[in-house]
Amino acid sequence: MPARILDGKTLAAQVRARVKAEVAALARLGVRPGLAVILAGEDPASRVYVRNKTRACEETGVHSQQIDYPASVTQEELIRRISELNADRAVHGILVQLPLPKGIDAEAVQRSVSPEKDADGFHPANLGALLAGRPRIVPGTPLGVMRLIAEAGISLAGKRAVVIGRSTIVGKPLALLLLQKDATVSICHSKTKDLDSICREADILVAAVGKPKLVTAGMVKPGACVIDVGINRLADGKLAGDVDFDAVKNLAGWITPVPGGVGPMTIAMLLENCVHAATAQSSS
Ligand code: NAD
Repeated sequence: MPARILDGKTLAAQVRARVKAEVAALARLGVRPGLAVILAGEDPASRVYVRNKTRACEETGVHSQQIDYPASVTQEELIRRISELNADRAVHGILVQLPLPKGIDAEAVQRSVSPEKDADGFHPANLGALLAGRPRIVPGTPLGVMRLIAEAGISLAGKRAVVIGRSTIVGKPLALLLLQKDATVSICHSKTKDLDSICREADILVAAVGKPKLVTAGMVKPGACVIDVGINRLADGKLAGDVDFDAVKNLAGWITPVPGGVGPMTIAMLLENCVHAATAQSSS
């Protein structure tokens, strides 16, 4: 039987509708959630990501402002602007689009965002809270993956979960979230030996690497839930994930498509983070 498709586009639309209702409820209290997006440099992919995020904000009633800088911007200038945004009561969420231009310490810039306004959940204080098992603002992509799994009605307690990729924005926080739901979690990476056999043990297999067709049918346990976080632009201009979708879909129990799986959920979770931040800040 072919895998059931975990439809991130539909689920994200439902989340956005809920966010829109929450924004309307906040408006009745005189609060309009505001997101400031800092974009430095000319990276074309970053421009597309930011445009998608600001569009989603407009659609749900979140006020968004894009702050553009040339690639020559200094770290000091970015941090100075962020400290102004930290103090601005109309701004509830701040997002620094990565990658930042060469020579800028992205971690230092992200650390300068107030943890309460850290819409991406990348601040060490928020990552630390997640590590301690008391998540506050959680990065959007891992949060979106967890929602997709929950929506499918898949219980995680006692299951084997394998996450391929150990980045701070996807792999590591996702592993912590899976662990919190009592899955037995392995994190694999570029130095992992015998990746195929580790993956074959997974009830939940997540690929977050950035290599098309890294996950083949021979790496998937029949019936497993396969989540593809990867976004790769192929030579023909099409988007593909990290999973060989056509081969794996006949074997897996559930699978996310690319596009239309994790990607839309990332943006929906960002909006949700922003509205929750606005709610928390307006009641403090
Ligand atoms: P990253 O480059 O920071 O991390 C990639 C990870 O893959 C590293 O931990 C590395 O050790 C591991 N890796 C590399 N080669 C490997 C191999 N052969 N076998 C096993 N592991 C290997 O990337 P990231 O920022 O975590 O993003 C990963 C992918 O997810 C990219 O394609 C990115 O575009 C995509 N992404 C998608 C979304 C979304 O919303 N869908 C959000 C963030 C990132």
